[in-house]
Amino acid sequence: DGVDDRNLEDAVYAFGFGNRCSYVKPFGAGHINETYAVYMPGEDGDELSYVLQRINSNVFKDPQGVMENIFGVTEYLRNVIRQEGGDPDRETLSYIKTKSGCNYFEDSTGQPWRCYNFIPDSECYQLVEEPEQFYQSGSSFGHFLKQLGNYPADRLNETIPDFHNTVKRFRAFETALQRDLKDRAASCRPEIRFILEREKDCEVLVKKQEEGVLPLRVTHNDTKLNNILFDSKTGRGLCIIDLDTIMPGLAANDFGDSIRFGAATAEEDEKNLDLVHFDLELYELYVKGYLKETRDVLTEEEIRSLPWGARLMTLECGIRFLTDYLQGDTYFKTDYPEHNLVRARTQFRLVDEMEQHFDEMEKIIQKYAAGE
Ligand code: ATP
Ligand code: MG
Ligand code: MG
Repeated sequence: DGVDDRNLEDAVYAFGFGNRCSYVKPFGAGHINETYAVYMPGEDGDELSYVLQRINSNVFKDPQGVMENIFGVTEYLRNVIRQEGGDPDRETLSYIKTKSGCNYFEDSTGQPWRCYNFIPDSECYQLVEEPEQFYQSGSSFGHFLKQLGNYPADRLNETIPDFHNTVKRFRAFETALQRDLKDRAASCRPEIRFILEREKDCEVLVKKQEEGVLPLRVTHNDTKLNNILFDSKTGRGLCIIDLDTIMPGLAANDFGDSIRFGAATAEEDEKNLDLVHFDLELYELYVKGYLKETRDVLTEEEIRSLPWGARLMTLECGIRFLTDYLQGDTYFKTDYPEHNLVRARTQFRLVDEMEQHFDEMEKIIQKYAAGE
């Protein structure tokens, strides 16, 4: 996996576990970082006590900025959780500083490492197995937004600039189309047209943010089910993890990205489009959980922007897949030459169905915003 034992050992020492640590082994099913479990001697033998991660520095060019965001937000959350009467050691991650007081460790090859507590008696699900989990997911990410409602979002580092600037994503697509480096444009005319017809849509949320109609909030930017830990005993959402992409952003974007993959009936790269649908019932479940937590926090404009978030996060994702296809697959990992085109098609199928059911999507939002 490209991690040198020597660097792993240096990291274990840097966080002060060196002589006490029993052993370390690979952990979890993340795709971005290299994650390890650190075992320490406990009363009943060795216990999984800490999570040690080497941050992927190809994705995160500014690890210092990432770690400042994470420390700022988790320290703030600990206070909020205490005020709620919760358990700050279980309901958020507690990051640990190095022996020399830094919020991350740089190994001999310049790679950044960070460390936080393991949360025992928790589960992590890769896929929605029960619809109830999607409701829990909405409620967990909603609660996260609510807890951070008064955090000064403008103090966060924008660690991946213009991450959800859909207008810029559209422009990048146009550039890739003009260049057509791989002569692939001829093979995806309908998909290209699908995007070009929606140029105006790309502006909807970006404009509202620039005009000050929609506020910047603390957003998570990776609101997948497997970034929530569930309490093993109660089955309820317990702790939001994977805080690398915390940045200032729009509530509608986090909401929309959850809907994009969570309310789809097939995988992102399903080739048979007959299997790809936008599931309004799953959408409603998420909305119910999300608005239960956020309806008193979000502004009226923000609530109204949520269905647009779903539509635009899905469109934007499809635009990025097609852009990468035109550029020769330099960003997303692909298993075969049309992989990015196949992915773009599933996203556009979802967008198409969201457009057809947009009135219903809005009605569902209004229903739960009113407190039903
Ligand atoms: P992604 O592909 O989602 O970006 P990542 O590489 O950023 O993943 P994380 O999501 O931070 O990695 O962690 C990987 C996995 O490790 C999680 O999905 C979860 O299963 C597990 N995990 C991480 N932290 C904890 C924790 N504190 N307690 C229990 N399990 C954890
Ligand atoms: Mg993750
Ligand atoms: Mg991640």
